[in-house]
Amino acid sequence: MNRCIIILLTLLPQFLFAQSQTKIIDMHIHSYTDSDFGGREPATDHYGTKGSADAGTHRAATLAAFKKFNIVKAVVSGNPESVDNWATKDSDHIVIRGILMFTPNDYGIDTVKFEQMIKDKKIEVFGEIAPYYSGTTLSDSIWQPYLRICEKYDVPVGVHTGGGDPGGTYSWSPKARLRLADPYLIEDVLVKYPKLRIYMMHAGGEDWPEHAIRLMAYYPQLYTDLAVMLWVEPNTQRYIKEFLRNVKEAGYLDRVMFGSDQMIWPHAIEKSIRFLNSLTFLTKKDKEDILYNNAAKFLRLKK
Ligand SMILES: [Zn+2]
Repeated sequence: MNRCIIILLTLLPQFLFAQSQTKIIDMHIHSYTDSDFGGREPATDHYGTKGSADAGTHRAATLAAFKKFNIVKAVVSGNPESVDNWATKDSDHIVIRGILMFTPNDYGIDTVKFEQMIKDKKIEVFGEIAPYYSGTTLSDSIWQPYLRICEKYDVPVGVHTGGGDPGGTYSWSPKARLRLADPYLIEDVLVKYPKLRIYMMHAGGEDWPEHAIRLMAYYPQLYTDLAVMLWVEPNTQRYIKEFLRNVKEAGYLDRVMFGSDQMIWPHAIEKSIRFLNSLTFLTKKDKEDILYNNAAKFLRLKK
């Protein structure tokens, strides 16, 4: 067979996937430099798949996946240098600059530097913020000056809810406790900053999906992403399927956003999309809203 035809036939499924795939916003991508690459993740995922080899390979594979799956915007969080690297390589302007923080003074940041980074558009989303891993909650006093700045500049906040990796407490995050990941622990923030744009990450995890829904009922400005729950293991998929069924029945599906949270496993982007698309109780419109429309509304993207 002619070589060109062979190449065309090889590319055809990818092309058709991209064509048929609705536009996607990924609200939950992690970036790394080699200094912190793989420092928090196990060597393989639950199914034994190794992650990317290093930070550069991971970035290139993820940017390629953005193209392949029609991901037009992605909130990328990591250390500031890694986010800079991603933004530099991102010729399609997909990257929305986030920052990963476990404590308010990570990377030597204080409120003065933080405000400057926001003014310089180095931080466009304050997230992933994961107080759980450092033994704090977003309602604690140490986080308040940062939240005030976010409210002042209308910068959206993404906060980790639900537990983390089960081995984490014995290794890289000794202060993490499941009780600190209860979505109710952000309630004071919702009360204090009613104008703050804020989304839960992981929808309360396996731990408190009902608390996530109840909080969304009380606070109509509150959104959530789905994140790692979509792919990481059968148990999280079981919980997120129930969450989606319940949040749809409750009537708050219009505040649920896709996020892959693939960490160092770019293949998990495809896995997450396929899992979401396989849920028969969601209509085509529901899926389009979760994959794009809800996040476009939350981020106030210009059409
Ligand atoms: Zn995450």
